Amino acid sequence: RTVYLNGEYLPETEARVSIFDRGFVMGDGVYEVTSVLDGRILEFTGHMNRLTRSLNEMGMENPLDESEWLAIHRRLIELNDIDEGLIYLQVTRGNAGDRDFAYPPADTPQTVVLFTQSKPGLADNPAAKSGLRVISLPDLRWGRRDIKTVQLLYPSMAKMEAKARGVDEAWFTEDDLVTEGTSNNAYIVKGGKIITRQLSNDILHGITRASLLRYAAEAQMQIEERPFSIAEAQAADEAFVTSASAFVLPVVEIDGATLNGGRPGPVAARLRELYIEESLKRAV
Ligand code: PMP
Repeated sequence: RTVYLNGEYLPETEARVSIFDRGFVMGDGVYEVTSVLDGRILEFTGHMNRLTRSLNEMGMENPLDESEWLAIHRRLIELNDIDEGLIYLQVTRGNAGDRDFAYPPADTPQTVVLFTQSKPGLADNPAAKSGLRVISLPDLRWGRRDIKTVQLLYPSMAKMEAKARGVDEAWFTEDDLVTEGTSNNAYIVKGGKIITRQLSNDILHGITRASLLRYAAEAQMQIEERPFSIAEAQAADEAFVTSASAFVLPVVEIDGATLNGGRPGPVAARLRELYIEESLKRAV
């Protein structure tokens, strides 16, 4: 596999980063994941805008402009012959030369890394037909979940807990209300209405979420942005999650309670189709 590191395209075995990189010692970096279908990138501008926002919130500049980012993404798709898959991008504050809580000087070169992951069958995910089973866990992450940092330990722990309990995913709760999933935004459907938590510092501002809500509104579907509890979700008609890599995936069980008879519901299925169709139209 060919990867990108600080301006160079290299075999993955030759791409090396300093042990003093703040991404490594402090988790001081941000990332984005975009998906590729038919060799084209979905929702690219949305991801680039969020990258700039995450960097700015951490006091960093975006080292490249959108056209430069696009050129790198396209080159990696070509070099690695990606038809369906993911592109991972990470920017860290770079090599500080030594370990210190204070940031290094602003002119310290950032570390920029991109790599691809080939995922044939990404759009044809069997989970779209079987649905996900989720458990709830307390949201013990920090208070700036709107910044897409590489600090993913708690979501990883939650994912392991879900696995250990024989289910697929965990939804986080705070004050009895669902924030989001370990790596996705959470939704319920009641009486045809799509309900999802409003944007704040409490959740990641999902790019799939933003686009899906736009496509759903254009299709005259009803949307309500507000928090919901696990009890409300268990009594809903349907539930689902969204992310760049999963698109829209139905949830069929929450803390042991089944929804829609344990089968994916019609609204989630329609939204999955709508999202893939509309985002493919805009793919670059
Ligand atoms: N919430 C969290 C915590 C996530 O990690 C992700 C995926 N990165 C999402 C939501 C979904 O965001 P997006 O649709 O931009 O992939």
